[in-house]
Amino acid sequence: MKIAILSRKSSLYSTRRLVEAGEQRGHEVKVIDTLRCYMNIATDQPSIHYRGQDLTGYDAVIPRIGASITFYGTAVLRQFEMMGVFPLNSSNGISRARDKLRSLQLLSRKGIGLPVTGFAHRPDDIKDLINMVGGAPLVIKLLEGTQGIGVVLAETRKAAESVIEAFMGLKANIMVQEFIKESAGADIRCFVVGDKVVAAMKRQAADDEFRSNLHRGGSATMIKISPEERKTAVAAAKAMGLNVAGVDILRSNRGPLVMEVNSSPGLKGIEETTGKDVASLIYEFIEKNAKPVSTRDSTVG
Ligand code: ADP
Ligand code: MG
Repeated sequence: MKIAILSRKSSLYSTRRLVEAGEQRGHEVKVIDTLRCYMNIATDQPSIHYRGQDLTGYDAVIPRIGASITFYGTAVLRQFEMMGVFPLNSSNGISRARDKLRSLQLLSRKGIGLPVTGFAHRPDDIKDLINMVGGAPLVIKLLEGTQGIGVVLAETRKAAESVIEAFMGLKANIMVQEFIKESAGADIRCFVVGDKVVAAMKRQAADDEFRSNLHRGGSATMIKISPEERKTAVAAAKAMGLNVAGVDILRSNRGPLVMEVNSSPGLKGIEETTGKDVASLIYEFIEKNAKPVSTRDSTVG
């Protein structure tokens, strides 16, 4: 198959692994710099131009769209979709996952376990909002943060009030969340492909830190997850409409709670920690699910 990887750089670990695994399986794999794609949407034959050329003949596209370019990246991906190219994750799925609040609303509708979460617009409502999530300590999050940046633990009600007020003053979109103390600085990253968790790791925060992100000094180890955790992770990816997802789960006294669902989960940590060839498993999914262009109806609807 001819497969495009939408990525800013071919030197990134995940991108490199996807090229390597795809070529090993006999595919023609091209890395396309998302921001160098430009599009004509006014014609009846949607197309994408790239460095002066028309991108044609692709069977599938693997989006690796960084959080800072979500808007443009999902527009490029949508154009591939309009051309009938199979997206590993759809532009809609990615847009949903990039907004933590929207994600939690979708997950709650499917009855998936979540930390109690609230959001408000006006400073006048802060006191009651804090009550709603059970008081301090609590976690305050920017809706579009990543890598642990924009996630704050407020240990007291006073601290929570000031931090929320400060964020609101800056017009930042935030949510307020119950702090799951019993997870003790650890979370579980479940790597979902299709309807399976193909690899899982436990991430433990560094000393004096509650955020387990590897970018914040967390360390990862292999872990065996429970059937309930497995079921929760797969259901979460499905609720978001994602074929491939990194579902982050907190182990709480009332069972697994989904904290977030990542639509472009990195391969480095999970492959190095578990020794699994996750990149090849992603291609297995594409091979099963993407129809080659030649057998497809060429009309675009
Ligand atoms: P990001 O998108 O920046 O990674 P997360 O929502 O995943 O933001 O939060 C970062 C980290 O903070 C998590 O991996 C987890 O270790 C910790 N954390 C986040 N929310 C909670 C919570 N409600 N209770 C306990 N720990 C949390
Ligand atoms: Mg996270």
